[in-house]
Amino acid sequence: MSFRVCINCHGIRVYPYMGFMIGQRFECQDCQEQMVIPLEFETNEDYQEYLRGVAPNHPNVESEDDEDDDDDDEESEND
Ligand SMILES: [Zn+2]
Repeated sequence: MSFRVCINCHGIRVYPYMGFMIGQRFECQDCQEQMVIPLEFETNEDYQEYLRGVAPNHPNVESEDDEDDDDDDEESEND
């Protein structure tokens, strides 16, 4: 199952938009950007990889692994 991604805000709420004169386009429900060809991804993994590249702080970015948060106890002072 593939899904479409907005070229402007990188959101996934992109739906077909039928104009009367302009033919079929897609419209983003998040930023109202209209585009002829949105981005398309086959898997969420691909989308996540893309997001991390173009918009690491995007709200749709899933944190890769937050299972190792005990990584900061190396500040033991041994002198
Ligand atoms: Zn958008």
